[in-house]
Amino acid sequence: MTNRVSLTQFIIEQQRGLPEASGTFSLLLNNIVTACKQISHLVNQGDLIGVLGSAGSENVQGEVQKKLDIITHDIMVNALNWTGQLAGMASEEVDSIVTIPEGYPRGKYLILFDPLDGSSNIDLNLTVGTIFSILRCREGSDPTVEDFLRVGTEQVCAGFVLYGPSTMMVLTTAHGVNGFTLDQDIGEFILTHQAITIPEETSEFAINMSNQRFWEPPVQRYIDECLQGTGGPRQKNFNMRWIASLVAEVYRILTRGGVFMYPYDLRDPTKSGRLRLLYEANPMAFIIEQAGGACSTGRQRILDIKPTEIHQRVPLVLGSKKEVERIVRYHLEM
Ligand code: MN
Ligand code: MN
Repeated sequence: MTNRVSLTQFIIEQQRGLPEASGTFSLLLNNIVTACKQISHLVNQGDLIGVLGSAGSENVQGEVQKKLDIITHDIMVNALNWTGQLAGMASEEVDSIVTIPEGYPRGKYLILFDPLDGSSNIDLNLTVGTIFSILRCREGSDPTVEDFLRVGTEQVCAGFVLYGPSTMMVLTTAHGVNGFTLDQDIGEFILTHQAITIPEETSEFAINMSNQRFWEPPVQRYIDECLQGTGGPRQKNFNMRWIASLVAEVYRILTRGGVFMYPYDLRDPTKSGRLRLLYEANPMAFIIEQAGGACSTGRQRILDIKPTEIHQRVPLVLGSKKEVERIVRYHLEM
């Protein structure tokens, strides 16, 4: 039998190589893993335990909340607020930051998470996920909202868990990207995808074509050139995918390349994009760049954006490096 490496072993061994690392971080990661295993179990049980469907409420973004949006938010908070590794949390599902309850010690990290990404897919039995981003927090008093508003390059760790046919965790701590598959029998994530790298060239794109009439000219141009196939300027045929679940789109791109876009569009000038900078774009950009890809708004590298508010939205273009660079070039030439 080949020697299997668990996520815990992998993190501890990786940390041994880093002089500044302490055991706190591995403990934090283990607690995140515990929460995600609970979520994986709930998602898998589905209607057997009555967790599907709408909760009859809206989140701060004005989106209808699913029951599982709220349940998974509570799982993350309850798994992490007592541990002593965190100074505070921020979640896509609640308006203000989540503080550590009185009586528990404050740690040196902040976590930001989307507890259930792609939750509109949950009733369809399609892939959903949990996305998280970890920052180091200044020591001293309790964190304020400003402590969370940091550029993406300051992230110390980002990851996502995919609840698909298998449950998988994809993780970076700025030393490449690795993937772990949950062995349901023993309840451990096992290293299955080492040093994931995104192919530079691709012939696959993912975009919500139903919004085409609202796109800006550079996006119109890029997609139009793809659609022209072998007879067009790209001189090859492209394929399209659209799962409407960021975790699933990013996982596909990590596996076989491609480009995903939720670009700026002209529908509502007050909204600069669809996806959230702090819970979705930043952690995915960290992972994508660590895997050799690129991630941009079309005009600016995602990881360089200085956030102004905690639920800020951004346009998102991510995937194979050469394709993202081409799309950015089309924006600059506009
Ligand atoms: Mn989401
Ligand atoms: Mn969500």
